[in-house]
Amino acid sequence: MKLIVQKFGGSSVANAERIWNVARIVTDTYKNGANVVVVVSAQGDTTDDLIAKAHEIDPNPSKREMDMLLSTGEQISISLLAMAISKLGYPVISLTGRQAGFLTDSNHSKARIKKIDTERLEKELDQRKIVVVAGFQGINRYDDITTLGRGGSDTSAVALAAELKADLCQIYTDVDGVYTADPRLVKNAKKLEEISFDEMLELASCGAQVLHNRSVEMAKKYNVNLEVISSLEDKPGTKIKEVTKMEKLLIKGVAKDDDIVRISVIGLPDKPGIAFKIFSLLAAKKINVDIILQSVGRTGTKDISFTVPVDSKDAALEVLEEAKDTLGEYTVETDTDVTKVSIVGAGMQSNPGVAAKMFEALYEADINIAMISTSEIKISVLIKKDLGIKAMNALSDAFIK
Ligand code: ADP
Ligand code: ASP
Ligand code: MG
Repeated sequence: MKLIVQKFGGSSVANAERIWNVARIVTDTYKNGANVVVVVSAQGDTTDDLIAKAHEIDPNPSKREMDMLLSTGEQISISLLAMAISKLGYPVISLTGRQAGFLTDSNHSKARIKKIDTERLEKELDQRKIVVVAGFQGINRYDDITTLGRGGSDTSAVALAAELKADLCQIYTDVDGVYTADPRLVKNAKKLEEISFDEMLELASCGAQVLHNRSVEMAKKYNVNLEVISSLEDKPGTKIKEVTKMEKLLIKGVAKDDDIVRISVIGLPDKPGIAFKIFSLLAAKKINVDIILQSVGRTGTKDISFTVPVDSKDAALEVLEEAKDTLGEYTVETDTDVTKVSIVGAGMQSNPGVAAKMFEALYEADINIAMISTSEIKISVLIKKDLGIKAMNALSDAFIK
């Protein structure tokens, strides 16, 4: 029998009417003869609301308690959806992350899945039940609840699809597929029929939140048959696959990431091993460093600037403060008024001049570039935050006809 994993995001289960809509999609799939595992997120803005509630008590709460709190959002969704499915006359059971067997590491608030013990879940499927699983959550080896990071329900769904060797993993959301840029921000964004795992991974890592980047990583690793599709309109979505048909588009997408901060370390000794020291200390604290720029300072010193996710800012500053003990005195500056805008496309590997064209488009839009980084299939620039949407539109106009 076919097995299909269907994931529904927050807006798709936001209220009773939307939950009925999801229940109908799920039961139609079941009726057509497939086994169905459903993964759901918290309703609407529930996760944001819970975060706000926590901050009323403590602006810097314990991560363990945050995970305990945030995991409740998904628990509301699974029970409500199971009630709706049952009311439609179908056999169904809801399972928390723990009951579904999600074991993660102990990195609270961005835990990684280590293993999924699907024995219970498969028993329920064998009885031809629809199984509704809470996304975004698991437990660590101490039996404490963990969460997978914002947007992590996508990863729960793909991980289950991989583990259960599902025939298909459908990510239902409030847009009808993956576009060349966020269609809410960019006027001429175009829907893609398909996109490669590598391109999707870069786009997701550069801030296109339509898919959680780890979900794409996992889909590529286990070759999961993955698609992004609308929960509100009945039309074909976007397929994410290993190899895609040749396409005319040189650039597959434009994305922006507002949740980063630039840190500059000024006046470091200009001698070997300094960059090594700083970046290994940051790595030891699991801080993800992105764009890096080193420049020669005045009088025998050097400066290093880099970007980190905004939620790693305090940890990074702490590391840099402690490192003064071994590296000597230097000053540290931070700038949160930045955004990273990226263009992504496998086509740029074999086409010279893409960077020049990107910089020209930004110049014509009167946008100043603070930092640049490139990889095989991506070019990113750091600019002022309030110019992010303008830059995305300028790049979309230049590259996506
Ligand atoms: P869900 O709650 O279903 O997980 P998300 O809000 O996480 O939904 O992701 C869907 C949103 O992602 C869309 O509403 C859209 O605004 C945004 N988005 C960003 N980049 C893209 C893109 N390239 N293609 C489609 N949607 C995108
Ligand atoms: N509810 C979580 C969040 O808002 C997980 C998810 O939606 O995927 O980030
Ligand atoms: Mg999401």
